[in-house]
Amino acid sequence: MFRTLACIVAFSTLAFAQRGPAQPRTLDIYWIDVEGGAATLIVSPTGESLLVDTGFPGNADRDAQRIAQAVVTAGLSRIDHLVITHYHGDHVGGVPGLSKLVQIRNFYDHGDNTEPNGAAQFNAYVALAGNKRTILKAGDKMALGSVDLSIVSAAGKVIENRLERGFFANQCEGAEIKPEDKTENSQSVGFLLTYGKFSFLDVGDLTWDREMQLACPVNKIGEVSLFQATHHGFSNGQSGAPALIWSLRPQVVVVNNGARKGFSNGGFDTIAKIPGIEDIWQGHRGEINDAAHNTADEKIANLSAADDKGYWIKASIAADGSFTVTNARNNFSKSYTAR
Ligand SMILES: [Zn+2]
Repeated sequence: MFRTLACIVAFSTLAFAQRGPAQPRTLDIYWIDVEGGAATLIVSPTGESLLVDTGFPGNADRDAQRIAQAVVTAGLSRIDHLVITHYHGDHVGGVPGLSKLVQIRNFYDHGDNTEPNGAAQFNAYVALAGNKRTILKAGDKMALGSVDLSIVSAAGKVIENRLERGFFANQCEGAEIKPEDKTENSQSVGFLLTYGKFSFLDVGDLTWDREMQLACPVNKIGEVSLFQATHHGFSNGQSGAPALIWSLRPQVVVVNNGARKGFSNGGFDTIAKIPGIEDIWQGHRGEINDAAHNTADEKIANLSAADDKGYWIKASIAADGSFTVTNARNNFSKSYTAR
């Protein structure tokens, strides 16, 4: 799907020079702080980049500026691929601001907007994407060198069959069913990234009903190493079906919540009960959560909404499946080994 090999090779050489020849290159994932929106920057070991969502509009392009800063921090000079999971403002809102700051080469999304009140942001996005726009479907594949992406959801549909990988126990007995969701969230592009033994699932704001279609009666995804909690930590119970979350068995969960958005008490408990969970990392201390429903401070990037410095969380993944998660606020880091 990705075409310009010559550019990628030339760019990889640049990235290599910037990082220094002695450094083995890792797959890096940055959860940029967009205060309860989403902006996840993935940089492959060859220096190819994929940004998933762009945070909010407004605030003097605060989120676009933070993404542009992360692009510089990652040693990049552009964004090769931008995936917009869906057209809510906390995901697509940063596109106009970001496009003024950073070159974006290719755009990917689920197709038409489904909510009339999002028309202005959708139209702005479509105009900027122009003829560099690709519409993704569940079942599509993408690759960033040796990093593979399987699209597991898009436009309200999920993959029909389970992926050919791993272990597939299910958690369906007694699972709560919720009615069909008609919001843009249900249209979210979701993907499973795999790099050797390591795997990462990001399904944007995919809703409970579609999560159930991924999990029951057939667990279609299998186990993952790292999971970005759906919908900023299962906002309002619209996402976070335990039948999916527990069958994924992520070792590490990153929650891209805001101080007062996402990750209500029930969400924390759903994650804490994941069989074999090793750690939870949060973009923000949830100020609507009590202390028992936040992870330890050292694994929270931003402790106070009133004094937000925009710290990110980063995961660096080596070819052997070992991965290290780092908090930019305090440089606390911890290493894990993908099962
Ligand atoms: Zn959202």
